[in-house]
Amino acid sequence: MDTKIIRIDEQHIDMALIEEAGKIIKAGGLVAFPTETVYGLGGDALNPLSSEKIYKAKGRPSDNPLIVHIADMQYLDRIVRKVPDSAYKLAERFWPGPLTMILYKADMVPYETTGGLDTVAVRMPVHRVARELIKAAGGYVAAPSANRSGRPSPTLAKYVAEDMAGRIDMIIDGGNVEIGLESTIIDLTSKEPTVLRPGCITKQMLSQVLSGVEEDITLMRDDAGQAPRAPGMKYRHYAPQGDMTVVSGEEGRVTEYINEQVFLRKSDNKRTGVICTDASVEKYRADVCKSVGNRNDEAGIARELYRVLREFDDEKVEVIYAEAFDADGIGQAIMNRLLKAAGHKVVCV
Ligand code: AMP
Ligand code: MG
Repeated sequence: MDTKIIRIDEQHIDMALIEEAGKIIKAGGLVAFPTETVYGLGGDALNPLSSEKIYKAKGRPSDNPLIVHIADMQYLDRIVRKVPDSAYKLAERFWPGPLTMILYKADMVPYETTGGLDTVAVRMPVHRVARELIKAAGGYVAAPSANRSGRPSPTLAKYVAEDMAGRIDMIIDGGNVEIGLESTIIDLTSKEPTVLRPGCITKQMLSQVLSGVEEDITLMRDDAGQAPRAPGMKYRHYAPQGDMTVVSGEEGRVTEYINEQVFLRKSDNKRTGVICTDASVEKYRADVCKSVGNRNDEAGIARELYRVLREFDDEKVEVIYAEAFDADGIGQAIMNRLLKAAGHKVVCV
């Protein structure tokens, strides 16, 4: 299959191109597009064949449900059995934006889209290209991240092309994404509203709107003795090809420990890498050292993280050490993704 790559600028949207892309989705095809979080791989959420195509293109297990993207509030109650008050409250505060809500699905949403579940994940993105595309595509676009399963989510169209060229109909290049990590997911079908995946909308922010917000205990640990409640979270997502360890502790000790390990691994002839920050990048002696930015600028780190993980793959790094980050605010989402990339291998020094 030939994959057509087009460029659409969020500030000057070419509606003829949007129409062309929308038609592809309506006809059952797949189009990758920019959102504020990461690039999505879009298909018609109400067409079971489109969802099957998405799973196939990603190489994703089909019990891992897709997020349905809408562009207008009026569309919500058509795909949800009964929209609870809590959803309206959250929507008023956080939509359009990087928040996904889990709600009971209406019959018209095929089980192929929800991975066999009676619930559906819904999000209204803020990115203007995404919104226009959703409208042109009929209103309901199922869109997981546009990476092959097991690779970091794409934050640039060139990464989508690396993973998806030849497998989908079209890629819309909209430049850099703004956030760089996937949306926060909150389950509104459980007894208390529960965060299933941390993102840049934090638990504290959600708690300003709803009372009793909880967190799935598997978010930051893998020894909780239970399966994560978001099916996709059980997979080793976001994983670089190298063997990765997160190192936490006092700054100087972390640098010292990582350099010791790098020395040992180099003498085993391993190609080594370090994920660090601007302040520490000069201190490491690994083959490849990459800063994700300034430790105090968490939004900046979120934006750079997946690019850096992909670059370690490109550079064929075999062993990676990553500095840990404070797990509050957006830091929780950053650490959640790092821990997943590392398969929860953490050393405290
Ligand atoms: P992605 O589209 O790659 O950002 O990932 C979508 C993720 O949303 C899935 O991997 C699940 O973890 C989560 N998700 C989607 N639908 C549901 C649902 N109905 N219940 C719980 N989690 C869901
Ligand atoms: Mg994904």
